[in-house]
Formats: sequence, structure tokens, C-alpha cells
Amino acid sequence: MTSRKGKDMTTAAAGPAEVDVAIIGAGMAGTTLAMVLGNAGRKVALIDPHRIHHEEFRAEKIGMSQMRQFEKLGLDKTIMPLVTPMNDIHVFRLGQLFAREHKWEYAFSYGALINGLRDALPPQVPLTVGKVAEVTTGPDRQRLVLVDGAVIDARLLVVATGYSEAIRRAIGVERIELSKAHSMAMGFDLAISREECPYQAVTSYGKRAADRIAYISVFPIGNKMRANVFLYRNLAESWTKAFREAPQKMLCELMPEIAAQCGNFEISGPVDVRQVSLAKTQGHRRDGVVFVGDAFWTTCPTPGIGIGRVMTDIDQLSTVHIPQWLETPGMAADKINAFYDDPIKVASDEEGMRVSIYAKQITTETGLEWRVRRLRNNTARQLMIIGRKVRHLGLRREPGMA
Ligand SMILES: Cc1cc2nc3c(=O)[nH]c(=O)nc-3n(C[C@H](O)[C@H](O)[C@H](O)COP(=O)(O)OP(=O)(O)OC[C@H]3O[C@@H](n4cnc5c(N)ncnc54)[C@H](O)[C@@H]3O)c2cc1C
Repeated sequence: MTSRKGKDMTTAAAGPAEVDVAIIGAGMAGTTLAMVLGNAGRKVALIDPHRIHHEEFRAEKIGMSQMRQFEKLGLDKTIMPLVTPMNDIHVFRLGQLFAREHKWEYAFSYGALINGLRDALPPQVPLTVGKVAEVTTGPDRQRLVLVDGAVIDARLLVVATGYSEAIRRAIGVERIELSKAHSMAMGFDLAISREECPYQAVTSYGKRAADRIAYISVFPIGNKMRANVFLYRNLAESWTKAFREAPQKMLCELMPEIAAQCGNFEISGPVDVRQVSLAKTQGHRRDGVVFVGDAFWTTCPTPGIGIGRVMTDIDQLSTVHIPQWLETPGMAADKINAFYDDPIKVASDEEGMRVSIYAKQITTETGLEWRVRRLRNNTARQLMIIGRKVRHLGLRREPGMA
């Protein structure tokens, strides 16, 4: 078996590779954890079936708070060249300009970001390209046998395999769906270039509960303009089929207030559609192994909290728990449980699940309580829009009056 950097890290003939931590899955969680542990001098094995992370529609934007998490772990210098920064976001609500937000956000293609992180792995942490055929976990040592016969022996096993079921099932951990087909996300490139778009970035919220649209976000990645739509529908609905057949027509009808600025929503390339369910893990409290990121819980993309949750896991694991666990012999479940009971991790996961559920309710629920909440929120927003217009008019009249 050959690693990404061409080194044979583990071969059947050479006997087991002995490491402190073996990480299965080199996505956002696995790769960042491997980097931080490797940079701290830990012996780490990072295993993924693919040398290059394929292009897939996942997170495409993070905010300043996530960038700060990368910064805290010393990863910001690696991340910055891989992202497109922006800090002038036109926000539309109720079909009108509501605010201009001057906060930093950073856009990227997920595959390119993960590959950039993989390329920056320290030389002592090569990516092992291979499939895990056998996993044995216990209170002292964890043993992985890869399909080619290579053996990795570790004190701790970290499972960071995202949505994938194979490793979780092999270990005997169950995925419990809390809200099946909870939301849908769509991503596509616009035909206009960054220079042709009068807005640096736009967020436009859905107007009617019946539309079941949370918001559309239009932003630059490099020189192209990309759009993400977050909504509450499922793949089988006729609406979804109609959208896939005529996305430009439907977007112009749904968001006429920004259509002209967005090249009348002419789309170049395919419309990527992902359905997301909210899920938790059951049976994860066991000897020798810890589950992180989406392999632990899956929340909804709409509130944009996935990467923040992943990085909270990695921060708490790499700076607090793993150093403590490695200090003393053994890796029994009572050690591992300290991570699952860590108040910072628990708060991050629970808040992620709470906002995932709330974002859907406030967008789509039709019961009296939710209609009243929407009315209250929209009245406050309408007043702010009027106040903004009045201020704008006042400013325009002032020179003439003087
Ligand atoms: C459509 C969509 C839009 C999103 N938008 C946002 C957003 O705007 N903001 C935000 O914060 N979050 C967003 N998220 C959530 C965010 O993308 C995820 O929370 C985050 O990427 C999870 O990272 P991870 O490392 O846990 O999983 P992944 O990055 O999926 O990594 C899993 C890795 O495991 C590997 N693997 C799988 N099976 C095996 C196996 N058997 N053996 C070895 N390796 C294996 C895979 O190859 C992959 O490299 C979005 C999610 C989706 C689906």
C-alpha cells in the first residue's frame, strides 16, 4: 500500500505500524485532527480509501467564528489560500434590501479545501490510502487490518467517516434518524462572473411559508459566482423535479428582487441536490474508539453550523482529551466518555441540533404559535426596512436643503 506522499507506511511484510492515534476518514474532521496531532509530535495514522477527495456538494462557506477555530489550532495559514474572502453581504428580507453586513465570510469548494488540507499534512503524517477490512477495539490497543493485509496498531481509534456507515456498523454503532429528509440543499454555478455581479455576495430569505425556502446565498468562489439554496422539501416532490428542469425560471419567480443582479439566474453547470436527515449515534460509548464530526451527529446545513461543530470536536479532542488519555495506560470507555460528556462539546452539538430544528419550524410551521412568531419578526423587519429607507431619503435630501 502506498501513501499519498509515496511512502510505504504499513505493509504486511513490515509488521504492524504502531501509532498513538489511528484516524479513519480524511475529511474535514480527520484531516484537521491528524494535522494538529502530527504537529504536536504524536504518531498518527490517517486512513481514507481515496487519495484525492472527490468534488462533492458540502459546506461551501464559513464565517469568522469558524475561521477563529482554525486559527486557534494553527490551521488558518493553511486554510486562507484555499478560500475566497468577502465582507460586503447584501441581505434581502421580505423581498427588499434589509441590511448590508460587513462581516467576514470565506467561500470554497469542499473537495478543493480538503485536498489543500491533505497536501499540508506534516511529512510524519502521510495519508494511508486504503480500505479498512477489519477493526478490533479494546481497553488497551486498537487494531486495523486493511484490505491489502497491512496492519495498524493504535492506542486510540478515531472514526471520522462522515455519513458513511461501513466503519460504524463494523464497530457495532447505530445511527438513529431524528428527522428523516429534514432539509434539502442545492448548489450551482451562475453564468455571470464575479466582476459582472454588482453585489459581492447576497443572501435573500424566503418570503412565504408555503415556499418552504429558508434562503438563497450567492457568493464568489474564485472568479465564479456560486449559489446555495437551503429549503425544506424532498427529492421525490414534483417541486424538486420542476426546479431541476427549469431552475432559472423558478429562481426568477421566487427571488425577483435579486434576479437582475444575478444574471437573471442563468446557470452554468449542473444543479447539485443533497437531502439531509438529522441523526444521532447510539452505542458509541465503548473502549478504545471515539466518533467525531458527522460520524457522531449529523445536523442541518441551513444554519451553517456543521464545520463549527466539527472544529469544536477537534479542538476539545486535540487540546484537552487526547493529551490526557495518552498520559496514562489504557484507553477504556471511562476515559473516552469524558469527551462525550465535555460541556463544550455537548453545548456545541445540542445547539447545532436545536438551531437545525428551529430553522425549519420558523420557515415552514403553520400552527398559530409559529404564524404569530413570523408576524412579529416580519413586522420588526418591515419597520427596520422603512427606517432604513427614511434615513436614506434624509441623507439624499440634506445637500439640497443646505
Ligand atoms: C449540502 C451540504 C451543505 C453544507 N453546508 C454547510 C455550510 O454551509 N456550513 C457548515 O458549517 N456546514 C455545512 N455542511 C456540513 C459540513 O459539510 C459537514 O458537517 C462537515 O463537512 C463534516 O465533516 P466530516 O469530516 O465529519 O465528514 P467528511 O468531510 O464527509 O469526511 C468523511 C471522510 O471519511 C472518508 N470515509 C468514508 N468512509 C470511509 C471508510 N470506510 N474508510 C475510510 N474512510 C472513509 C471519506 O472519504 C471522507 O474523506 C453542509 C453539508 C451538506 C451535506
